[in-house]
Amino acid sequence: MQYQENILHTIGNTPLVKINKVTADVPALVLMKVETFNPGHSIKDRMALKMLEDAEAAGKLKPGGTIIECTSGNTGMGLAIAGCVKGYRSIFTTSDKQSKEKIDLLKALGAEVIVCPTNVTPDDPRSYYSIAERLSKEIPNSYWFNQYDNLSNRLAHYESTGPEIWKQTEGKITHMIVGVGTGGTISGTGRYLKEQNPNIKVWGIDTYGSVFKKYHETGEFDEKEIYPYITEGIGEDILPKNVDFDIIDHFEKVSDKDGAVMARRLAREEGLLLGYSAGSAMAGLIQLKDELTPEDVVVVIIHDHGSRYVGKIYNDDWMRERGFLDTELRVVDLIKSRKAEDFIAVQKDQTVRQAFQIMKDKDISQLPVMEGEEIIGGLTESTVLSFLLDNPLNNGEKPVSDIMDDPFPVVQCETPLSQLRPYLNKRIPAVITKTQAGTWQIVTQYDILQTV
Ligand code: PMP
Repeated sequence: MQYQENILHTIGNTPLVKINKVTADVPALVLMKVETFNPGHSIKDRMALKMLEDAEAAGKLKPGGTIIECTSGNTGMGLAIAGCVKGYRSIFTTSDKQSKEKIDLLKALGAEVIVCPTNVTPDDPRSYYSIAERLSKEIPNSYWFNQYDNLSNRLAHYESTGPEIWKQTEGKITHMIVGVGTGGTISGTGRYLKEQNPNIKVWGIDTYGSVFKKYHETGEFDEKEIYPYITEGIGEDILPKNVDFDIIDHFEKVSDKDGAVMARRLAREEGLLLGYSAGSAMAGLIQLKDELTPEDVVVVIIHDHGSRYVGKIYNDDWMRERGFLDTELRVVDLIKSRKAEDFIAVQKDQTVRQAFQIMKDKDISQLPVMEGEEIIGGLTESTVLSFLLDNPLNNGEKPVSDIMDDPFPVVQCETPLSQLRPYLNKRIPAVITKTQAGTWQIVTQYDILQTV
């Protein structure tokens, strides 16, 4: 019979798969080390098991003990799986920018998860590093793995990922490219490969908002490089001990948008449903394509599976809200959550004072004027105010039809927002559209401003 002793024995030996379409302009053979085949669907299973076994061997974690780690999700997943098999309790701290899917997956494996703020410095007592450290001091027989500085992390890749790639490419690999977070993957794999052939180029992918690239190029840890970004798992605001800067030949920064767009292309064009940083790695390779020749064999190592990001990069609304989708926003996108009763208008024989009251109550600056179901005019705040100020004695008792302007322009709900420019000006603050359900909606300059 062919079976494994337990699930941990299935970690590693992942396939190398040729990338065909998204790399059409890259003059080299591009192969991807598809690490989603690991049982936790990420490369981090390898280092999680190694850190755990090394901690056990060193007597740092004893039977019945508690695993503690700060994790963007994947290391936690690997540790949680190993914890289940080996009978440890798991507690993870993570930052609030990580996808909900990752947190739910950790909980599904029985782990306890503490979500900490992203935008605090690492030494802040609320940071996910500090909380993990504190818990490890407070909970007896617990061990904080600290994947950033725990060198079993990069050793795992030196012992497994590196030799696998060397063997799978029959020693023909010329370039390795991978996202850098703790640095374990790039440093361990890169060291092994360079020991086999020192000419192999090792390229790391960094984010805008991370310290790595500048530090590598200038030796300066520049705090000004640190700012929030959206990409998950790569880039840092610290220098983890696992990053071996001497092994890395070049850092390439990839924007949040380019990483996300490329991850979606990998799914749709290659059938590879992968995580955000996989998109960043591939986008970085394409940025560097002019450095490559047809003889080159490039291995892109990817970290995790796309299922962790279905609510994010694979969700059109999420992408659109961040301006990551090149398809333009249309009128319909602004009104799709509105109901028929959200359309506020006045009938032509209602008084100016009533119209003024509606504007005040609903906090709006314009009103369509209706005759039954038909729109026959438009009222703006300034028209109403001018009338009330010019006619103080009338007390606003005239019907709105006496002072209304022309109706606001009617546009199709499929109209892109950029095409509304000719319609809108100081006098015309809104357009009207009919929804697919046949009800009227108004789109104001203010609505549009809020989307840009
Ligand atoms: N991508 C993802 C999704 C990750 O979780 C990580 C780990 N933080 C990385 C990339 C970077 O890997 P490493 O920590 O080995 O540098």
